[in-house]
Amino acid sequence: DAHVVVLGAGHAGGTLVALLRQYGFAGPITMVGDEPLAPYQRPPLSKAWLKGEADGDSLALKPLEFYAENQIDFRPNISAVSLKRAEKTVALSDGSTLSYDILVIATGMRPNKLPLPGADLAGVLSLRSAADAEQLKGHLKPGHHIAIIGGGYIGLEVAASARALGAEATVFEREPRILSRSACEVLSTFFTDYHRARGVTFELGAHIERLVGEAGKISGVKMADGRVIPADAVLVGVGGKPNDEIAADAGLDTARGIVVDLEARTSDPSIFAIGDCSHRPMPHYDRMFGPESVPSALEQAKQVAAAITGRPAPTPEVPWNWSDQYDLKLQIAGLPFDADHILVRGDPASGKFAIFHLKGDQVQSVEAVNAPPEYMMGRQLIGNRKPVNLDRLADPSVSMKEVAA
Ligand code: FAD
Repeated sequence: DAHVVVLGAGHAGGTLVALLRQYGFAGPITMVGDEPLAPYQRPPLSKAWLKGEADGDSLALKPLEFYAENQIDFRPNISAVSLKRAEKTVALSDGSTLSYDILVIATGMRPNKLPLPGADLAGVLSLRSAADAEQLKGHLKPGHHIAIIGGGYIGLEVAASARALGAEATVFEREPRILSRSACEVLSTFFTDYHRARGVTFELGAHIERLVGEAGKISGVKMADGRVIPADAVLVGVGGKPNDEIAADAGLDTARGIVVDLEARTSDPSIFAIGDCSHRPMPHYDRMFGPESVPSALEQAKQVAAAITGRPAPTPEVPWNWSDQYDLKLQIAGLPFDADHILVRGDPASGKFAIFHLKGDQVQSVEAVNAPPEYMMGRQLIGNRKPVNLDRLADPSVSMKEVAA
């Protein structure tokens, strides 16, 4: 049987190796990961982990024994350094070389650094790994002030966790509103108000000049208007970059991620790429996209496991995602591409509502706050492309079941 080598032991890689065995693949599997832990879930790192409600064991996709018991050669603390496609080998950081028949790149992404003076001071943190979360956790305590740079989902989740732990939090956002990259204005306003009511301070349209420190340690954020806002720690949450260099250096097609098809295959037929390092097609939208979500990593792991074991390709899923802040569960289905208007169902002031992004009478995406039926049926409508009656959709007294019927 072919030797499958997986680079990166995260959500995508860990899911794939388990699926391969589940689908009956009997050949050798090697999975190399540069972290010390077995593959684990990252979403709780900005939530449960910071509150001490989760650790490496509880977040593990599978217990460590699973890998040995299933003849999966899992090698932690080792990174892949380079790839030679002509020889089908990968060079590893311990000096060894691995030969593959099928290679799966699942190296995820890494947080962007802040391109400002002071970004390398101690106490300037980012959040991608369990080790990062552990460091951040130490700063979230009463009397401490955390400056969060970037008003995206990770920043907002950390702000909510900080407040739950009694720390002060200020969110600095360069744009005039938070979530400007991913959400509409209604949702931005809702989350800003919700956080403000729970003690978070916002600096919107913030122009940060530099981070300032004392004795090499962060002490504050200096704004272009001259103010210095004191901080005991800074969390930088300004997006990330796919770990696609190994692939690009080996001549694979990349475009903000490794370009793959609907089987997650790269431009080299014996190499796949899955998860956040990939740049993948989104069939419902006829576009390529950097996925950055667990459901997409799982879907691509299924695509590759099916391709390797000769099963039919899984039916394409409607992309989905979520964010937990305080007692709010935001669920997002679809992508707002090509929408020409939005429709708000329910009253944001009630803390339970949904925003539908529509193209005519077709749902392109839905953002649902504490509104599971809107999310579920919205996702179904995106998938089946059924036109909706907009008056009924706008009326919360008409059930979503009736709207979607
Ligand atoms: P990862 O899980 O990051 O795994 C990649 C692994 O490869 C890492 O261990 C990395 O260290 C390793 N690696 C990198 N380079 C090499 C190399 N050269 N050699 C060996 N190993 C290497 N998604 C959601 O859907 N919902 C959420 O609520 C949500 N919340 C999140 C909160 C936080 C704080 C973070 C960080 C992410 C969140 N995400 C969320 C995103 C989600 O975690 C990712 O989409 C998912 O982990 C992608 O899986 P992956 O396997 O591609 O990448």
